[in-house]
Amino acid sequence: MNVKYIKSIGPNNEKILNKLDIYNIQDLFEYYPYKYKKIYNDIYLIDDIFVNNYIFCKILSPPIFRIIRNNLNILSFNVLIDSLKVKVIIFNRQFFKTKLLVNKKIIIYGKYDVNKNIFTASNIYFDFYSQNFFPIYHLTNKLSNSSISTFIFNALSINNFIVDNIPDYLNKKYSFLSKKEALFLVHFPSSDENLLNARSKLIYEELFVFLFKLSVMKILRNSNNKIIRYVNNDKIDLFFKNLSFVLTVDQVSACFDIKNDLLTCNNMNRIIIGDVGSGKTITAFYAIYLNYLSGYQSAFMVPTELLANQHFSLCIDFFKFCNIKISLLTSKTTKKNRGILLNQLLDGDVDLIIGTHSIINDDVIFKNLGLVIIDEEHRFGVLQRNILKNKGVKPDILYMSATPIPRSFAKILYKDIDVSLIKSKPPNRASVTTNIININNVDDVMLKMVDQIKNGNQIFVVCPLVEDSDSNNVYSVKSLYSIYSNYFENIANVGIIYGSMKTKEKDIIMKKFLIGEINILISTTVIEVGIDIQNATIIAIYNAERFGLATLHQLRGRVGRSNLESFCFLISDNNYNNRLQIIEESSDGFYITKRDFEERKEGDVFGIVQSGFSSFKVANFLNDSNLLHNINDDVSEFILKKLYLDISFYHNIYLLIENDTSNIDF
Ligand code: ADP
Ligand code: MG
Repeated sequence: MNVKYIKSIGPNNEKILNKLDIYNIQDLFEYYPYKYKKIYNDIYLIDDIFVNNYIFCKILSPPIFRIIRNNLNILSFNVLIDSLKVKVIIFNRQFFKTKLLVNKKIIIYGKYDVNKNIFTASNIYFDFYSQNFFPIYHLTNKLSNSSISTFIFNALSINNFIVDNIPDYLNKKYSFLSKKEALFLVHFPSSDENLLNARSKLIYEELFVFLFKLSVMKILRNSNNKIIRYVNNDKIDLFFKNLSFVLTVDQVSACFDIKNDLLTCNNMNRIIIGDVGSGKTITAFYAIYLNYLSGYQSAFMVPTELLANQHFSLCIDFFKFCNIKISLLTSKTTKKNRGILLNQLLDGDVDLIIGTHSIINDDVIFKNLGLVIIDEEHRFGVLQRNILKNKGVKPDILYMSATPIPRSFAKILYKDIDVSLIKSKPPNRASVTTNIININNVDDVMLKMVDQIKNGNQIFVVCPLVEDSDSNNVYSVKSLYSIYSNYFENIANVGIIYGSMKTKEKDIIMKKFLIGEINILISTTVIEVGIDIQNATIIAIYNAERFGLATLHQLRGRVGRSNLESFCFLISDNNYNNRLQIIEESSDGFYITKRDFEERKEGDVFGIVQSGFSSFKVANFLNDSNLLHNINDDVSEFILKKLYLDISFYHNIYLLIENDTSNIDF
């Protein structure tokens, strides 16, 4: 039912509601308050009297009833709103007279005339507003909390449109409220307890439907055809013999997952989640190797050219023990070389291509692409992932993400993707000491740098801007360059790097930094992702207060990548910045991400991984993730016993997914 047919809405309000994506009665029910204001005892919302017309008050005097003329009568009485005494009048509601008792708390709805100190009420609410919770909604212009409440109240009084999607036996199992009660109570709660009950019901329902879709997708995906690989175990062993270090337990288990995916009859659709420096790259190499052994091509997609170059050199070096033919393709590859490379890919003369998003252009065609790896996945949009996915035969897919999120979050965020977590860090890593440094004490940092340089170590300096701008006190690469080259004259070589620099220049600088010809590299956040310099021992971040938690953590991950003791200095003029303190107190990416989630508004939570994921309406990702386990079990049983066949809502979802997975609207 369209919202315009709901009492008190009408065409004007309909337009306003449409702006909030509310079109039908269902949307309106699900337009949940984002918080509740608790009103204790005698505190009223006096401010609202001028902007809102929906006022909580206490009756001071008994109502006086007068007939003005035929068909027009009036009730008048005094109320207390906060400390303001106001006269209230209401027309043609003589039946309220007996309910308007002195000291009773009510809600009046209407207009306030400041000059006359008279509030003309068009309605009065008694019982359900005896609550001390006031729901607060996200609003637009021309819409008040009180009008949304009224719309919802009116909508809820039309019974037929409320559908409960929780199967009856589960409603019984958990003694859930009815859907109608639950909806009523989230919008008009009267105690913490019934709010909690209402929310549990709605959250459960939302997650149940969601997990049902996920499970069906997974079942159907696994029944699709896939590449079957045969590889020789002796050859696999060569990979491990060639390693210069012992894999951590989590790396081994990720490799095990990968092998399992590639060699069994299910498509691989996996994400490796591991904190910065946890050693994800080697697991990707393992996947590439297995894929190569079975005669297929691999594509390795990374977000920046810097990283593409680094991975390319690393691969060339690592895969010396076998004959994998490796090529690099970035937007900077010359036309001529690109042409040659494209032919080689088509002919199967290249086994592994590494590149930025340029490897998903339409003209890049593979002979037999078997595996796609997408590194530092949070930098890529959904679109890009899909294009590459659909090239050639149906390749297996491996994502890698340095956004460390707990498995239960990950399962939701990444839809039907399997998750391998790498939590342990490679051994013999010295710790990274993190300190917030007041900008006035930056000399201490410089002295420390001198020490480190004397020991042959290298240093990253990061700041927000490339060039100075009007905003005061914000450091730029160029201004720091002059400060540093002065200070370190005769002590160290200082270089700079930033995103908009020419690729050739960037390459030269990076190479010089890699071989130690440059000791101090000043940059913007271009170095945030992936770069691996073993003897970098200091990262100094200017205007650290300007960066988000995830960025700061990633930046810090540029140091402490060997057994050398390392330092991260968060330079700021605000030592008490909350985010900086979080970074200072913890180096656990999983913890930091959790805090990051908390710091963001709920709707933003999903932005962090660009998953193209629409946010839940009532479930809170952070607090409710522990419920997932239970609900997942219920869903599995529901599917296994084919109970969904009895409920058309679920049966339709099943058929929809079966026919076209790509169009499912989550
Ligand atoms: P990330 O997970 O951030 O992508 P990398 O894969 O770049 O991390 O690994 C970081 C560094 O740790 C690299 O220099 C890599 O060679 C090294 N490394 C990875 N695994 C191990 C291990 N098991 N033992 C020792 N060093 C390791
Ligand atoms: Mg990496």
